[in-house]
Amino acid sequence: MGDSNDNMLRYHRQMAFDEIGLAGQRALRAASALIVGVGGLGSWVAELLARSGVGRLVIADDDKVDLTNIHRQALYDQTHADENQPKVLAAADRLARINSETTVQPHQLRVDASNIAQLADRIDLIVDGTDNFHTRFIINDYSVRYSLPWVFAGVVSAEAQMMPVIPSNTACLRCVFDSPPPPCTDPTCRQAGALGPAVAAIASMQAVEALKILSGRSDAVSPFLTKIDFWTNQIQRISTAGSPDCPCCRGGQFDYLEA
Ligand SMILES: [Zn+2]
Repeated sequence: MGDSNDNMLRYHRQMAFDEIGLAGQRALRAASALIVGVGGLGSWVAELLARSGVGRLVIADDDKVDLTNIHRQALYDQTHADENQPKVLAAADRLARINSETTVQPHQLRVDASNIAQLADRIDLIVDGTDNFHTRFIINDYSVRYSLPWVFAGVVSAEAQMMPVIPSNTACLRCVFDSPPPPCTDPTCRQAGALGPAVAAIASMQAVEALKILSGRSDAVSPFLTKIDFWTNQIQRISTAGSPDCPCCRGGQFDYLEA
């Protein structure tokens, strides 16, 4: 596709931001991202990346829209909830209306070790839109094994955290969390609740890191684990030098991918 005025005009304000520019915008159009889960985090990131002109989005989720989703999930409305629509189909329809230049490939399934390779085929970046650490550890294994960047994020209550992972460059998730919390104590948003704007805010930060990577500006990626309590306004930036004992990025063990 050429750079006709029509298809670049919508990105005018974004290209006017020097760090993106025309070169960055062209890179975004050629780029692709796999969004694992289009719930609270993934629906916001999908919308922001489509609006920003990322060329191809692969979205995967096996869930359906219900009324308890609407307060914190972009893309969905009451009609989707009333009809109990599959999230990936509702999301794909909405994303096509937002930006018909973005190719959206929906997959109504739960990402696991058996299907991540197929979903991540010809993908430049994985975005974490999950609500559980087990899937995040599978994503992390895949990322490190195949040198594919990903952006982790999570929200419980009003507390959110976010960390980009660029293999061989930054720490990986297992450098920071040596193992997933056991499922019975894993405080997902269903048990602990989630403040809608906290989800939107950390997903926006996740999208910024994704845009840096996809526009060719990985040099600008945050080297920190960022933790924000959006209720008390406490912000922590935790330095994440890779752990020399990390079984994944140092030890070459991919326990969650091979399980
Ligand atoms: Zn590591």
